[in-house]
Amino acid sequence: MQLQTEALHAGYDKDTQSTMAVPIYQTTAYEFRDVEHAANLFALKELGNIYTRLNNPTTDVFEKRFAQLEGGAAGLAGSSGMASIFYAIANAAESGDNIICARQLYGGTLTQASFTLKRFGISARYFDVQNPSEIEALIDDKTKAIFFETLTNPSIDVADIAAITAIAKKHGVLTIVDNTVATPVLCRPLEHGVDVVVHSASKYTTGQGLAIGGIMVERQGLVDFIKGNARYPQFNEPDESYHGLVYVDVPLPIFTLRARLSLLRDLGAVVSPFNSWLFIQGIETLSLRMREHSRNALAVAEFLESHPLVKKVNYPGLKSNANYANAQRYFENGMSSGLLSFEVENFESAKKIVDATKLFSLVVNIGDSKSIITHPASTTHQQLSQEELAACGVPSGLIRLSIGLEASEDLINDLKAALSV
Ligand code: PLP
Repeated sequence: MQLQTEALHAGYDKDTQSTMAVPIYQTTAYEFRDVEHAANLFALKELGNIYTRLNNPTTDVFEKRFAQLEGGAAGLAGSSGMASIFYAIANAAESGDNIICARQLYGGTLTQASFTLKRFGISARYFDVQNPSEIEALIDDKTKAIFFETLTNPSIDVADIAAITAIAKKHGVLTIVDNTVATPVLCRPLEHGVDVVVHSASKYTTGQGLAIGGIMVERQGLVDFIKGNARYPQFNEPDESYHGLVYVDVPLPIFTLRARLSLLRDLGAVVSPFNSWLFIQGIETLSLRMREHSRNALAVAEFLESHPLVKKVNYPGLKSNANYANAQRYFENGMSSGLLSFEVENFESAKKIVDATKLFSLVVNIGDSKSIITHPASTTHQQLSQEELAACGVPSGLIRLSIGLEASEDLINDLKAALSV
């Protein structure tokens, strides 16, 4: 089935009421038929609902539907993108281990990897996403995951997914990829050898800036990669916290199962059923929206590229962009999503332009239907010196745009007017 059909139907058998819309199961707990039923659920002899921190029928549809869009075996929702990223990494690595991350990551992921994971005893080593050959020298026997973004925020690079997964496979290391900006409509990383995909559902999945949430999806057949792999004893040896369960012996998607039974159970950063329902609404129109975001962003990028006050435009859909070949290779028809950035003379001129736009909202978010403008040097990257800004590819005159679903002519006219102030 095509993705746009799955987006409307996957994961939902119309329930006993035959409701066309997926119902919101706003409940904390579920009644067991009897003691044996309860015992069977806890022992995984029977699958079913126990408590909403572990599972929920509305969230189940969101997880199944999203997993299907990614072409994966199973999904696990989290309370935010950051929570899902943490679950994926903490499922692969433990204290004393290391992970290898692309340097070009969303800022929150960078701080999680560099500071918070470090406090849990997991260290991060970094490679340049433009240069996957740096990875091999960083791998040792304590390396448990390679983490990168398909389409990076905010630097807007496109990863050479196959090159990275080839190195990971050679060394038996899991790859975890953040596919938030590309979404499964434009890019399906599991088809290029990735093991686990994570998302902030707060962006294009909800689509209208309505809710915070996240999701993790594991690929089909991941058990064959993990079974007997000395890097991952936590899946191959009995789990003391779950009456000695050996995950590789369970005939279910094991990466998701372990994250649900141990991490979701014990950390509890779970998505609310209402937010899952909002994500289901968003998914229904995701493929239409991603095409339109991409079409609009390309039109805006072409306009900016032709403007005399613009020094540089970063958008992988432009032929002039260094990421163009990867975008053509990995993205559906080369469509490159709604994120772009452009550089003007200096800090002051960038500030003036941002303040002068009328249709764009000054917001630190992306993936909304409404267009967003940000000036990283005065907000998200404020603490960095001129030299540090340049080193992470964020010059002080850089402006980031998240192109929404307005008419591209209106967006271009707004930018044209702001550039002439
Ligand atoms: N990944 C990417 C690429 C993001 O842009 C963001 C947030 O901006 C996140 C993850 C974190 O997601 P959330 O805000 O849902 O925790």
